[in-house]
Amino acid sequence: MEPLLKTYYKRYLSEVRHLKSSTVKHYCDALNNITRHLQEMKMIEGSIYDISDLHQLKDLRAILFDDSSFIAQNKKGNQMYSAGLNNYVKFAEGMNFLGLHHDIAKLDMPMPVIAEEPRRYEIQHWARSDILREQTLAVADYHCEMDGGHQTFVAERTHKPYMESHHAIPIHLQGRFPYSLDVYANLICLCPVCHRKIHYGLRDERREMLYEVYEKRHERMAHSGLEIGKEEFADLILKE
Ligand SMILES: [Zn+2]
Ligand SMILES: [Zn+2]
Repeated sequence: MEPLLKTYYKRYLSEVRHLKSSTVKHYCDALNNITRHLQEMKMIEGSIYDISDLHQLKDLRAILFDDSSFIAQNKKGNQMYSAGLNNYVKFAEGMNFLGLHHDIAKLDMPMPVIAEEPRRYEIQHWARSDILREQTLAVADYHCEMDGGHQTFVAERTHKPYMESHHAIPIHLQGRFPYSLDVYANLICLCPVCHRKIHYGLRDERREMLYEVYEKRHERMAHSGLEIGKEEFADLILKE
């Protein structure tokens, strides 16, 4: 049975974007190829359309775009695989849905009921410790490391200001580093607004935040075997 997102995506390309059927086929072939590639990498079992979690989809994309055999294949195919995946992610993110208004109704059609199969796909998850997470907040005395003055609210669990721990180098990039990223040096305590901002804020503002994190932590990171230059650090994170 065709995955629901595949049906919708194809309909979106043809009914809303009015692409020729040969172009639609082109986009879908690219994603079929990507599915095969991810299966060979043992990253997923089902198809890429079975992934319903946007973060997982983006993590997979980051891993794929970092894979040398994919890079080579993509180059041979004139970047059509990466373009196809980027287009699908844009669709999945809802970026293409802005201004769509009632055109969304063009996608309506009866869809088969699909029973959830919990292990249809699986991403390799690198271990992250809850203990380290908690310790990171405590060691910062529950103050945001971007600005100790940032206020949140008192969390029931700890009776301390609510804060979040953030990996300076994202943990899904572990494959690039010979030493663990889930270490004190790579963990910082942020208030929820700064935490969302460092992930989802404007690019230039994120870059400023990343520089600040780098200044605070690069020596400790180097001591943890995570040696990286300032620009390399910012670019690595921003390119995602
Ligand atoms: Zn984070
Ligand atoms: Zn903050």
